[in-house]
Amino acid sequence: MKVNNAEIVISAVKPEQYPEDYLPEFALAGRSNVGKSSFINKMINRKALARISSKPGKTQTLNFYKIEEALYFVDVPGYGFAKVSKREREAWGKMIETYITSREQLRAVVMIVDLRHPPTKDDLMMYDFLKHYEIPCIIIATKADKIPKGKWEKHLKVTKESLDLEKGDEIVLFSSETGLGKDKAWTAIQRRMA
Ligand code: GDP
Repeated sequence: MKVNNAEIVISAVKPEQYPEDYLPEFALAGRSNVGKSSFINKMINRKALARISSKPGKTQTLNFYKIEEALYFVDVPGYGFAKVSKREREAWGKMIETYITSREQLRAVVMIVDLRHPPTKDDLMMYDFLKHYEIPCIIIATKADKIPKGKWEKHLKVTKESLDLEKGDEIVLFSSETGLGKDKAWTAIQRRMA
């Protein structure tokens, strides 16, 4: 998809604020600092629409980006930040659980992981949580530019096997630096739009 128009529609703190135009939604999830904002910006051809490395501890919101009047990217606050209080973690968990379990428009969760390293404990928990609710997932293995091409396949295999990736869940090799995987990621998303 060639994106010319993308805008943030709302940073929602509660479900009453979610958009009501019934466009398909794709939630973006990932450990803090994994490269989620960079992924969003690359996909929508923007330098900095999604905040890069937003600090934890800020109000936890779901940010709805409307793209080409056709779909939403819903940016979920990053997980796995050690310095977040128990209360904040619980609020985060409740927000994401409510959204994921009740949002009819949600077509898939796009989960961003770091290709360089095996998935973290938090990544595994997140994926299991999504599979528990039978949410289709698209895994984006990003920062591919940071390892030699010859190692990509091996790292992909480790990621797939560690997550115990379900049949039907795609995994896309990605780099926000070079744009590698951008077309494949859009294809995976568009396949889930119908
Ligand atoms: P977020 O916290 O998940 O939104 O992560 P950011 O998008 O802010 O990225 C965290 C850091 O990783 C930043 O310094 C980015 O420039 C860097 N980064 C993100 N994606 C890539 C990538 O594909 N390749 C490289 N080399 N660096 C990346």
